[in-house]
Amino acid sequence: MLDAEQCWEAVRRRDRGFDGLFFFGVRTTGVYCKPSCPARQPLRRNVRFYSTTAAAEREGLRPCKRCRPESAPGAGLTRIHELCRYIETHRDEPLTLEHLAAYAGLSRFHLQRTFKAAVGLSPKQYADACRVQSLKGALKESKDVAAAVYEAGFGSSSRVYERSDARLGMTPNRYRQGGRGLQITYATAPSPLGLLLIAATDRGVCFVQFGKTATALREALSQEYPDAALEPMRQPPSREFHRWMEGLRRYLEGGQPILALPLDVRATAFRMRVWNYLQTIPYGEVRSYRDVAAALGKPTAARAVARACASNRVALAIPCHRVIRGTGELGGYRWGLDRKRALLAMEKAQL
Ligand SMILES: [Zn+2]
Repeated sequence: MLDAEQCWEAVRRRDRGFDGLFFFGVRTTGVYCKPSCPARQPLRRNVRFYSTTAAAEREGLRPCKRCRPESAPGAGLTRIHELCRYIETHRDEPLTLEHLAAYAGLSRFHLQRTFKAAVGLSPKQYADACRVQSLKGALKESKDVAAAVYEAGFGSSSRVYERSDARLGMTPNRYRQGGRGLQITYATAPSPLGLLLIAATDRGVCFVQFGKTATALREALSQEYPDAALEPMRQPPSREFHRWMEGLRRYLEGGQPILALPLDVRATAFRMRVWNYLQTIPYGEVRSYRDVAAALGKPTAARAVARACASNRVALAIPCHRVIRGTGELGGYRWGLDRKRALLAMEKAQL
């Protein structure tokens, strides 16, 4: 998740790995630039950050003639998303940082840093997370733990057992028994679209939902994770939790298009693919259920895509609100059509 501090660091380093992830405007010159702009660096106090060129231009800024920020808007983020897709589809191969850097056309150093800034995980952690997601899905569906382990690309069950304490938080067999022993911390906060509950394991965010009351939200959380130990976040919340909450709040106010929370969600392989795809739909854009199905190579699976959207547990971070009917109608939304309409209008207004 990019915050002002990270953006300023990238500007100071003229880090081209961040080009397209954000833009910075300089009040005193009336110009906006890419992070890598070779021109003289402005003073921090005169700088503001923008997620899109349109947002910078709305404030009356002109594109810089040296770095031409308008020429490749969004390129950086698209590259990171492409890399995520690549990792997901090659998760049963050993992926080295060299290999991924060559694929992305970045130095290893840049890749590591920009990937982490945009996704919240290093490429290696992301690859491991993909394998774990796939394993979780397979474990829920399969009776045979060994087969599920192989299917998820771990290669051998000893490797997954070595890692499972650090990844699944429990061994595969216990996971199948309903995730008993899982510690989930949660907190509620008001938001422009109503009360919001965010919950996380120590691996990442597992639940973001809107609701009428704190009690109803807690009830929904406990239905989703019946065997987990649920604990309210201590006050003040941990730094990480606070950052996630702040990110969501800024997003809902239209101030932060990139909402890359580290996620800890489990699902079947197909749902996981749908959710991953949803995260590549650009801010302010929509796709139809059919588009998503076609993009996943299953053109007849539009209904299954709709069900995957409806079963999303992390609102906003997995932007299921960006999928609508082919006719242009909004379709459904787990948290109400008014919210879906408001989210889409908010995103559109920022472009
Ligand atoms: Zn410039």
